[in-house]
Amino acid sequence: MSLRHGRPYLAIPGPSVVPDRVLAAMHAPAPNIYEGALVDMVAGMIPELRQVARTAHHVAIYVSNGHGAWEAALSNVLSPGDRVLVLSTGQFAHGWAEVAQGVGAEVDILEFGKQAQVDPARVEAHLRADGDYRAVLVTHVDTSTSIRNDVGAVRKALDAAGYDGLLMADCIASLACDRFEMDAWGVDIMVAASQKGLMVPPGLGFVFFSPKAATVRAAMPRVSKYWDWIPRADPEFFYQYFGGTAPTHHLLGLRASLDMIAEEGIEAIWARHATLTRAIWAAVDAWGKEGPLELNVADPALRSHAVTALKIGAPYGTALREWVEREAGVTLGIGLGMAPPGDPEWHGFFRIGHMGHVNAHMILGMLGTIEAGLGALQIPHGAGGLSAAVQVISAAGTSPAQVEPGNTAMQKQCCE
Ligand SMILES: *Cc1c(COP(=O)(O)O)cnc(C)c1O
Repeated sequence: MSLRHGRPYLAIPGPSVVPDRVLAAMHAPAPNIYEGALVDMVAGMIPELRQVARTAHHVAIYVSNGHGAWEAALSNVLSPGDRVLVLSTGQFAHGWAEVAQGVGAEVDILEFGKQAQVDPARVEAHLRADGDYRAVLVTHVDTSTSIRNDVGAVRKALDAAGYDGLLMADCIASLACDRFEMDAWGVDIMVAASQKGLMVPPGLGFVFFSPKAATVRAAMPRVSKYWDWIPRADPEFFYQYFGGTAPTHHLLGLRASLDMIAEEGIEAIWARHATLTRAIWAAVDAWGKEGPLELNVADPALRSHAVTALKIGAPYGTALREWVEREAGVTLGIGLGMAPPGDPEWHGFFRIGHMGHVNAHMILGMLGTIEAGLGALQIPHGAGGLSAAVQVISAAGTSPAQVEPGNTAMQKQCCE
């Protein structure tokens, strides 16, 4: 017998759960890509995208995944031989660094390890000694380690060092999950993709850029035609928005997702992610009291609210992932960048994705399923993990004073 038949839950750190509302919006006849509803819809989405990124400036949309957005961003501001400094807290920083090398940049990497944030003081000292970089690259949240970097503090370090190049941030994992303030934090270029906090299937890449970045682009001798953000951010006619045919159905999905984001509010979305993530931490802390399970990042202040990386020791990580998927319909993420694939240690890590369309019952269900798996596989663990998560959810919900007897909002919701 298996207990997995029912609605599956893909709890990997991207792609994330796609809301039915987004799927339904995509279930539509092909729209005209030259005039009419689609053209009007895209024009209306641009200001909303800026709001999600907390910027008043430009955005270019690409038919691409996150890797495409990485390359798009770099291609607009780097020429072969330009120097780039990458601040690394995990595998995704190295991935972006490789893309920078691919467009001809000379890349230096400052490594901060897999358990610590980027240290602004070290960045400042490095730049004081050698500040001749066209761009500094940082991942806001590195999805492999689940470390969240303080991008505002990095900006202050760059300013303190008198650095006058660009600051570029990868928010592919974090946008619409973890608080991010592009303009207030002084970020020049930010990249994102559709399939994580934005709740749309993979296929749209976003590059947000500041007036300073636009000036750097304007001085470039040459930018590859497809990645050039100028016609996309400021198109003379609709076809230029996407460097060719628009990704019609992804855009319909994005329209629905932006509606959902506007209805909930970005601050409320960040708060929901933070609370649900605290429930996960509470469960893991209890399980970890006895046994091998632990969070990758010890300090809660350094952890993402979009993804959680865990260590449990080989072969338990893989065994647990396989059990919860096979027996209960929950898919957890593989560990990334902690041990080389093929190495037996690789089986000792896993990750939980909790980005986008997730709520309390999904998180509690997922945690209850993990607890069941720990028990079934006889993996040593402390008691009370699920109850600890339940406490977090209980304490965060509407307080009794807000629930008037005999009223009202609830009745209205159910009966009208
Ligand atoms: C997912 C992710 C990427 C890669 O995105 P793809 O769509 O897989 O190309 C890059 N950076 C971060 C931080 C990510 O989470």
